[in-house]
This record gives sequence, C-alpha cells and structure tokens, in this order.
Amino acid sequence: METKQFKAESKRLLDMMIHSIYTHKEIFLRELISNASDAIDKLYFKSLTDDKVGLSKDDFAIWITADKDSRTLKITDNGIGMTAEELENNLGTIANSGSLKFKTENKLDEDSQIIGQFGVGFYSAFMVAKKVTVISKAYGSDKAYRWESEGVDGYTISEDDKASVGTEIILELLDDTDDENYGEFLDTYRIKGLISKYSDYIRFPIKMNVTHSRPVEQSEEDKAAGKAPEYEEYMEVETLNSMVPLWKKNKSELKEEDYKHFYTEKFYDYSEPLKYAHVVNEGMPSYNALLYIPSKAPYDFYSKEFKKGLQLYSNGVLIMDKCEDLLPDYFGFVKGLVDSEDLSLNISREMLQHDRQLKIIAKSIEKTIASELKKLLSNDRPKYEEFWNAFGLQLKFGVYSGYGVNKEKLQDLLLFTSSKGKLVTLDEYVTAMPEEQKYIYYATGASAARIEQLPQTELIKDKGFEILYLTDDVDEFAVKMLMNYKEKEFRNVSSDDLGIEDTEKQEDVKAKEEESADMLKAMADALDGKVTKVVLSKRLKSHPVCLTSEGEITLEMEKVLSAMPGNDGHVKAQRVLEINPGHEIFGKLKAASSDSEKLGKYANLLYTQALLIEGMPVENPVEFSNLICELM
Ligand code: ADP
Repeated sequence: METKQFKAESKRLLDMMIHSIYTHKEIFLRELISNASDAIDKLYFKSLTDDKVGLSKDDFAIWITADKDSRTLKITDNGIGMTAEELENNLGTIANSGSLKFKTENKLDEDSQIIGQFGVGFYSAFMVAKKVTVISKAYGSDKAYRWESEGVDGYTISEDDKASVGTEIILELLDDTDDENYGEFLDTYRIKGLISKYSDYIRFPIKMNVTHSRPVEQSEEDKAAGKAPEYEEYMEVETLNSMVPLWKKNKSELKEEDYKHFYTEKFYDYSEPLKYAHVVNEGMPSYNALLYIPSKAPYDFYSKEFKKGLQLYSNGVLIMDKCEDLLPDYFGFVKGLVDSEDLSLNISREMLQHDRQLKIIAKSIEKTIASELKKLLSNDRPKYEEFWNAFGLQLKFGVYSGYGVNKEKLQDLLLFTSSKGKLVTLDEYVTAMPEEQKYIYYATGASAARIEQLPQTELIKDKGFEILYLTDDVDEFAVKMLMNYKEKEFRNVSSDDLGIEDTEKQEDVKAKEEESADMLKAMADALDGKVTKVVLSKRLKSHPVCLTSEGEITLEMEKVLSAMPGNDGHVKAQRVLEINPGHEIFGKLKAASSDSEKLGKYANLLYTQALLIEGMPVENPVEFSNLICELM
C-alpha cells in the first residue's frame, strides 16, 4: 500500500502537537468529541428532511471505548462520515486548517499556548497517540475507508468493511514515560473527568460502557454463617455528559439552588456565591453568560499567582478555561462563563473579527457586573459590605491604576470607614455634609483606632464634620486619583488649608506665630533638616504637637513608597512640626526660648513625640530616652 506524505504545513503542525507540553494534551478528547458532534449535527440535520437517513434524534450518540490490554481509546460517532476523498482532504492536509493559518500569519512563538487555548482539531490526537486509525463510512456511500497514520511519516488509505454510517477513531496511546502517563486516558474516572470538564454540554449523549461491581446473592447457609459476600462485575451504559448547559436553559426553569450548586461544582468553591447573574444577550454578538461574585477572596487573590478570567464556550464547547480578556482587572474576582455562537472553536482568518466580538462581549459583561454590584449595594447593604471586605481593595486599585481612567465607573462602588464608625459611600458622605463644609476630609493611618487618636482630626471632628479613615496602602493614592467627588474636593486632615472659617482663632494664631517667629526658626534649625519648618497649629485642640506635611507627598504616602521593594528612600514628605499654641507646652517653650540649647532639646523631644503619634519609627530611640531623663 502506498504511503502518502502530509503536506509541509501539516507536518509542521504535527510536529508542534507532538512536542506540546503535557498539560495541554488532554484537550485531544475535546477535539475529537467536538468533531464527532459536528458530524452528527450534519446527519441529524439531513434526517429532518430525508427519511432515508433512518435515524431519529435519540439514535444519535458518541461512544467512548477504552481497552487497557491493547492501550487503545476509541471514539465512535454515527454522524455524516467521510468518503475516501474527504479523508484525504480533511485529514491528509491541513492547508485549510484555521489554526495553522493563524499561526503562520501571526508568527506566534508560543505554540503550546494556542494548543492549550483553542481548538486545533483532529491532529491533536497525535499528542497522545503513536498511531491513529480513522474508519469512516460516509452517508450515501456504499464503501467504507480506513485512514491510518503513525505521525509525521505519512498516512495510508484503504478500503474497510465497516457496515454502518459514521466514523470510528482509534488511538493507540503512546508509551508511558517517567514524566508522562498516557495510560491514564484509558481510566474511566479520567475520561469522565475530561468529559465533564470540556464536553459536558455537547448536545448528543457521550456514552460509555462502564464496569461496576455488585455483591453476588448469597445462599441462606452462607448468610447464616456470616460469610463475606462475593462481588461480581457487570457492565452498564452510562451517559457522561449532561447535554444541556445550564446557561442555555430558560431562566424561569431554574432555581437559586441550581445556580448555586452549579457554581460550587464548577468553580470548586465551598462557600456559596454572594451574587449571580444569568445574562442572555440576543444582540450581535449573541451570548449567554453566568457570572458569580464569590463570597471570599481565594487565598492567592492578591498575589501574582492569581489568574482572572471567565470560561469561554463556543456553542457549548469549552475553548478556554480562563479568558482574561473578558474581565477588567478590577472585576478580576468574578467567576463564570460566557458562551457565544458567534465565536468559532478554531482560530481562523476571522480571528481578528472574533477578537473584536470578544471585546464587545467584554464591555457588556463589565457593565453587567457594575450594575449588579450597584444593585447589591442599594438592596442588600450587609451583603455588599461582605463583598467589600473581600474585594474592595481590588476596586481601589482599579481607581488608582491607569492614572484613574476608570474612576468614574468605580467611584460609586467604593466604601470608606468613617469617623461615624461605619462604612459610607462617597454619595452618603457628600449628602450628609453640612452646608458650611467645603471638603471631603480624610485621614490616613494603620487602623481606624490609630487614626481616631490622631491630633490632626480634632478640629474637624469638633466642627461635627465626618472624616474618611484611609487604612490601606492604596487608599490615599486612589483618593488622589479621584481628586473630587460631586464637585467636592478631597482634603487630608493634615493639609494646610482645611477650609474652616474660624477667623478669630486663626488671626490669634497668626499673631502668636509672628511674635514667636525667631523661636520657631531656632527650633527648625535645631531639628537639622528633619522638618522643613515648625509652625503654630490652627487645628490642634488638646494635643501638644503633630506632624504634617507640605506638598504632594504626604507622610502616609512616604510610608507606603518606602516600603516598596527597590525604593532607595528618595521619596520623602516635607515634614512640618505643628505646635499647639493653646497648650501649656507652648508657654514652656517660650520660657526656654532664650536658652538655645534647651530649646533645641525641646524641639527634638516634641518632634519624636509627634513621630510616635504618627506611628512612624523613632530615628534615635536612645537619644530620645536620654533626653527625657535629662529634662525631667
Ligand atoms: P475542523 O474540525 O476545525 O475543521 P479538524 O482537523 O478537527 O478541523 O477536522 C477536519 C475535518 O475533518 C472536519 O472539518 C470534518 O470535515 C472532518 N472530520 C473530522 N472528524 C470527523 C468525524 N468524526 N466525522 C466526520 N468528519 C470529520
């Protein structure tokens, strides 16, 4: 028999298959089953108008047979079949195969990535088989043919005596190696797993003879003697796929439990989702989607290892397990899937167009998620707060990243701890602002309890104004991106101008400051560059001192930036030491102002005290401790 050669490109693709990484190899079964399903689709379609087909819908099926003795896996369908010519054209050459075309046109070097993510068709069989045999009889033909190949060396086609219409694909699996266990593709358990993972929703039943065992009926004597029963094996036909995808069912048929059950099974999450949405979009591209908001962040959510993404199906067939492009980073916590008939299983020349459609789908999904979150926020606040505790940080990163391009979309989803001891939205904050309040005030610190203690918050609280407590590293950066909300600017409680009308007191402080200008200057000099200046405070009430900053970089930002790897300590806040002119400490300072040495010591003492209140490291603890003793 003549051995025919594969076309050059086919050889290349074959080669690429054979050397692909192991974890991608399992998709061969999905590919063969999906081909079988397509072939059945075609014959089923004919049967609707052609009585000669002689099959009704329930007769169509895909069969899987595994034989460990001969190490063969067989996939059989009673679909349309292939003529000799079709075997030759479809399997002998892949010049018209979408995957290869895509590859050559785009010069992707990540071969294996394409294999893992998209359909690569029949040739994937060679990832796991050393020999592939295809026996097929086309509908309307009286002859059957056998196509055989052991890979790159070529293939043969000969006649066969297969009686029924359809196709049988027999894979003789590769020998196991130290690293790769091909034999496992013969295990019923593994096969079932692959089918439920990739092909659950194939519209025709995927059947398999599965061996079970049961106890043999015992005689009365044996029973009386308490003998252990013997077991016998028996075969049973099982259908391995559920056939109708949940997301394609009518919403009215489905109960909350169905969605929740599906979620826990599919996404291996033991806790129920906080919220789900079933989207049926009939526009162009049409798609169905199931979206879930988990109740807890996965352990690796805030790490580099975490991969966002939705499952992507093309008409019921899984083509990608985590399609990143379907989710923006800030909604990366969403789990779920998208199924579209307008995306094809294979990458083809239309890939760019698909890509565009994928983008349209992604946009519409993003809108759905945002509106679902808004609904949750207004309809079920405790649940939203639960969501916030798990994923709020991600939304704040979203506001900050990309120089704030997404802030408008996200700002109404944000929550902040406030000085009123609860979580508030920006809208709630602004709505509750008294008329004379100019700004949205915020304070930063390691925890709400720590911020509570900050001297800088005194005056504003005294005014009865609410303060947002920012406790996460990203918070202040996010607020800087927001800049304002509903035309109200954000203001750090440590900033110079708090917009508070209290002219009498301010005038008084100003006068005192002018009087003590020399003393304040001497104190700043004694602090030797640690602060840019020492001033009298307009915001302090009962506390003696506090540390604030001038300019763009605040103390909190300095803390965050200096904790980042690779930071050389270049970014520094311009520190300002504020002294409370209403505190008795001020009198002591004035009294010491003629003794420059003593004044310098006081300045150092107060500065260190302010550092402690801010939760910042003391630069020289020994000197501090000595100073206290000395001055006592
Ligand atoms: P694709 O399915 O993307 O076209 P494949 O390499 O998987 O690429 O298959 C090539 C062609 O071979 C199919 O388009 C189909 O015409 C034919 N084919 C593959 N498997 C079968 C099958 N089980 N029954 C009938 N035809 C098949």
